[in-house]
Amino acid sequence: MTAQLIDGKNYAAGLRARLADVVKKLPAPPGLAVVIVGDDPASTVYVRNKGKAAEEVGFISRTLRLPETTTHDDLLEEVKKLNADDAIDGILVQLPLPKHIDSQQVLNAIDPAKDVDGFHPMNIGRLWAGLPSLVPCTPLGSLILIKSVLPTLSGLHAVVVGRSNIVGKPMAQLLLQNDCTVTIAHSRTANLPHVARVADVLVAAVGKPQLITADGVKPGAVVIDVGINRGTDGKLVGDVDFNAVKPVAGFITPVPGGVGPMTIACLLRNTLQAYGARRAITLTLPD
Ligand code: NAD
Repeated sequence: MTAQLIDGKNYAAGLRARLADVVKKLPAPPGLAVVIVGDDPASTVYVRNKGKAAEEVGFISRTLRLPETTTHDDLLEEVKKLNADDAIDGILVQLPLPKHIDSQQVLNAIDPAKDVDGFHPMNIGRLWAGLPSLVPCTPLGSLILIKSVLPTLSGLHAVVVGRSNIVGKPMAQLLLQNDCTVTIAHSRTANLPHVARVADVLVAAVGKPQLITADGVKPGAVVIDVGINRGTDGKLVGDVDFNAVKPVAGFITPVPGGVGPMTIACLLRNTLQAYGARRAITLTLPD
């Protein structure tokens, strides 16, 4: 047996096209503001890609580039201005922020209704309470990919390896909401392959190159690799040993070209969701 590839790049292109179709019919375009502080090369590329993707689906995209020396108070002031700006439906502050800025306080300052990253404590709480909320983009994109290959998740055992606030924890919650039995594994989990091997759906979000090997994968499992690591040869590798796991799994996402492109597509989806909720317009969000 060899796993079927889940082509996230292709899926994300389709999702962006479906989003663009919805945007065409709106009375006014949604607005996305991305704030970047400093000039970290990776963040600069991410922010550029987000702005470009937003424009391509017909959004108004605004990028606020602030110098590394921006003070905590000045950044909060900029966030407040965006909160008050009616043309802006979504606000994203690119992380990591410079060390002299308290990131959590900045995230807390974003209007939860415009928090398209889903990192505000209000949205985290709403997600855990099963209330409508803005959901972090990477786990949302991962869930959409899982649902694209599994007709129902009900009763399946899902194992999430990783417990970060931006991926692991919300991923586990989304799977729980879809009636999976969920195990959260992490850096202190004893005998990880033994735990991971029960998974019908295995999500790896650890940031450890090729941590998941064939002995940690149930035959036929859906394997979602969120990890983005730089290999010794400079190439991108995931948290899953792709070549070893491919003959065992039923479905697998590649790195790159798997979850990554879904993250930006879901940022756009979240912005559209925020637009609808803020303006009390009922929208059917595409998956
Ligand atoms: P993080 O570093 O904040 O957290 C990693 C989590 O994995 C922690 O909860 C930790 O307990 C757990 N962990 C670490 N080592 C472990 C081990 N040996 N066994 C089991 N669990 C272990 O990471 P994050 O922000 O959630 O990101 C995880 C990975 O996903 C990174 O590679 C990151 O680059 C990638 N990522 C990708 C996207 C995307 O768009 N594809 C988005 C966000 C993060």
